Amino acid sequence: PQSKLPALGTTIFTQMSALAQQHNAINLSQGFPDFDGPRYLQERLAFHVAQGANQYAPMTGVQALREAIADKTAELYGHKPDVNTDITVTAGATEALYAAITALVRQGDEVICFDPSYDSYAPAVELSGGVLKRIALQPPHFRVDWQQFVAQLSDRTRLVILNTPHNPSATVWRKADFAALWQAIADREIYVLSDEVYEHICFAEQGHASVLAHPQLRERAVAVSSFGKTYHMTGWKVGYCVAPAAISAELRKVHQYLTFSVNTPAQLALADMLRAEPEHYRQLPEFYRARRDVLVNALSNSKLEILPCEGTYFLLADYSAVSDLDDVSFCQWLTKEVGVAAIPLSVFCADPFPHKLIRLCFAKQESTLLAAAERLCKL
Ligand code: PMP
Ligand code: GLN
Repeated sequence: PQSKLPALGTTIFTQMSALAQQHNAINLSQGFPDFDGPRYLQERLAFHVAQGANQYAPMTGVQALREAIADKTAELYGHKPDVNTDITVTAGATEALYAAITALVRQGDEVICFDPSYDSYAPAVELSGGVLKRIALQPPHFRVDWQQFVAQLSDRTRLVILNTPHNPSATVWRKADFAALWQAIADREIYVLSDEVYEHICFAEQGHASVLAHPQLRERAVAVSSFGKTYHMTGWKVGYCVAPAAISAELRKVHQYLTFSVNTPAQLALADMLRAEPEHYRQLPEFYRARRDVLVNALSNSKLEILPCEGTYFLLADYSAVSDLDDVSFCQWLTKEVGVAAIPLSVFCADPFPHKLIRLCFAKQESTLLAAAERLCKL
């Protein structure tokens, strides 16, 4: 058939993980933990399966899980979403992002995102007939220049997609960024899609700023999260989004025919987990900060220059002192010859990305991180 997405190939995550496997390299590329999630969560899954909770869940998500999400949101961001109208459980954050973009973007609408940007946004915008306006952020801090942002707005702008904590740059938005965003779009009919899958993996002093904590913006916003990140279970593919009733209603029309509903016993287990062990997500920043510091310290004698990391489980390293190769070639070489797989940053950008940066995932056991660092220190 004639391709609807002719420029797209296999994702960089799949490519690099396959290359890592082929060359028996330590895989710090695709973002997933090499350790298991909480035992309690696994036990609750087995429990609910044994109890026979094995038929379709409600289209919007299991009630107990939506209630637990509403309470967690109220505790963290001072806003309690309506359990029935505002919360939709999805097949990972990926489905929530796709459903939100499909529901909100019409033919010819302009959508603003910030490069480097996560790879699932652009194809969804393209399939909806939207036009993506990509604003390039600059290392090392990758901050939004709000004057530049305002200059990108037009009468056709319909949606802004942001991601904080940000994959791959590991930077986080400040409250002031949300205030600036609101100021820029208040008088226009523009919606906001806030990808907050790393909401619990934030090391910044001021903590994670959520769009849900902004009283005006949250009336226009879809906030997306993922239990895969929070509970070290990327393979479970359960996520959710929070949006006001009118936006959720449109988003649910898409969700209803993308998946209809999501794995029932996993949702029940996640509801139990949220209720029984809230300290899990409260302690997550510390848990990942320790892993980040192991990797940063172990690389301190390497020729790599490490960039600041305020959130996510990714660390950026500048390899200018090591090689002249472009980042894609360097990552291939690194996997094959050095035995460490990483992700090049240019693949997340539309414009040529002249920097020599790679992304290393530190959601790994200490022994994995130390073994990878030992190889990287030989560069
Ligand atoms: N957004 C970002 C920024 C991500 O890093 C990821 C996962 N890598 C997702 C969305 C997708 O999350 P999920 O696996 O829950 O679909
Ligand atoms: N989000 C993960 C990452 O950034 C990858 C997810 C995927 O493989 N699609 O590495």
